Amino acid sequence: MNNLTCTAVEFFKKHPLASTGDAVQTLGCSGRTARRAKLKARRQATHKLNARILLFDIETIPMEVYVWGLFKQRISPDNIIKEWSVVSWAAKWLFENDMLSDVAKPQEAAKREDGRLLKGIHALLDEADIVVAHNANRFDVRRLNARFIVNNLPPPRPFQVIDTLREAKRHFAFSSYKMESINTLLGLSGKIKTTFDLWKRCVAGDESALAMMQKYNKQDVLALEELYVKIRPWIKGHPNMGLFYDKPTTVCPNCGSGKINWGGEYRTQVGVYDTYRCESCGAIGRNRKTTVDKKRRERLGVSVAR
Ligand SMILES: [Zn+2]
Repeated sequence: MNNLTCTAVEFFKKHPLASTGDAVQTLGCSGRTARRAKLKARRQATHKLNARILLFDIETIPMEVYVWGLFKQRISPDNIIKEWSVVSWAAKWLFENDMLSDVAKPQEAAKREDGRLLKGIHALLDEADIVVAHNANRFDVRRLNARFIVNNLPPPRPFQVIDTLREAKRHFAFSSYKMESINTLLGLSGKIKTTFDLWKRCVAGDESALAMMQKYNKQDVLALEELYVKIRPWIKGHPNMGLFYDKPTTVCPNCGSGKINWGGEYRTQVGVYDTYRCESCGAIGRNRKTTVDKKRRERLGVSVAR
């Protein structure tokens, strides 16, 4: 780490809720330095996570099909010439430096064989407690499952899924939910620009195109990590980090930090609970025990549901 990065890391440790723009303005560093420093500061501030949180992304080769025209076609499965397959994957454990990845060899891409390269991502999913991907629910996890069963791999061990696309749609009225658009709007790292030509060259088994695909795939995972960390405090019902520690004190359910400030109340139909804000990520959490005592609960009525 150079001096400016160190200073930026210290800045974010002191001001965990500051934006990268604040660091750029205060320290005169680049946006990229500020973003990386913010992740580093989070990693150091957050308790060592016992949870294995895997961020990942896959790239697929499209199907080849016979079509009668270019507009609004209903294509029969009989028209499939070649099925889609996975051409590359990239993954990293949250806040760890190593990027893990694999890409099809030229012959595998040309023959659409993904059995070999799937073993790596299958082993990682098997190890993960929580997986994070953009469109994980509808795309990545189901697509991988489809290729796992085709290649006779067993189901991975159960993991919890955080879908950044679903969470973005749930909480924010953005104009576009593409990761590229969201990250640009939020001042985070973006994707590498590509055209469909890259996919065509991969299908043809072009070695340099496959290397480019892997690079593109890895960059997507770096961008995903920044997006996940940015929206993490907003995620309602985040997998509870408190379950991955055996600590005598309450930790933030979203990020696992023990630095929390109690204050405020949260009400359900029949309970009142003390709330807190996490000093590290800004998430709001609440106690599980109601402050309404038994006598008050007994005389409490509720509005009818229908
Ligand atoms: Zn937190």
